Amino acid sequence: MKKALIFDLDNTIYPVSSIADELFESLFSVVEEYRDLLGNAELQNIKEEFTRRPYQEVADKYNFSKALKQKGLNHLQNITYNKPITTYEGYEEVKTLPHVKFLVTSGFTNLQNSKVKMLGIENDFLEIHIVDPQIASLTKKDIFANILLKYNYSRNEVLVIGDDPESEIKAAKSLGIDTFLFDPLNKYPNEEVSYRSDKLVAIIDCLLQ
Ligand SMILES: [Mg+2]
Repeated sequence: MKKALIFDLDNTIYPVSSIADELFESLFSVVEEYRDLLGNAELQNIKEEFTRRPYQEVADKYNFSKALKQKGLNHLQNITYNKPITTYEGYEEVKTLPHVKFLVTSGFTNLQNSKVKMLGIENDFLEIHIVDPQIASLTKKDIFANILLKYNYSRNEVLVIGDDPESEIKAAKSLGIDTFLFDPLNKYPNEEVSYRSDKLVAIIDCLLQ
């Protein structure tokens, strides 16, 4: 019997693609000042990779100078998203479940907080944790373990819900916690998880099993 649900945020509660253009346009404008150094062709690749990989990885791959890397980081640490964001279909039903809910997301603290605010989901969760490598070295796995300890949940009383096999799904599996992989585009048909669906609302059926 599950008592608690731990949700990821990006691409689990809302699609990042719905805010990516605006978000990455401003980051790209920082990098564009270095067009002469990076080259036109590389700049196009960089722009595309910003939308799907962590900034630090892109910066290293394209050999950003120390100054540029820091400039981009400063930008990302300060930006917020300030327009309403719409949740995925099914979230409204899932949030009415009586289970205790936690949100554990990784990214830049200010930006993640602004997304939570613009989604209007603060009150859906007992605790919200932002894993920000710029601030602390805690991982999602550490946070999951802490939640189990703090609330005295056994592993089988918790379900971790996320979209990324390399992130929250991996962390949950390593702790022996059941997983729900939300995979709307069926990107990971072979990933071993406890439950999977292309619809968020399927979480409700999993909890009845
Ligand atoms: Mg995610």
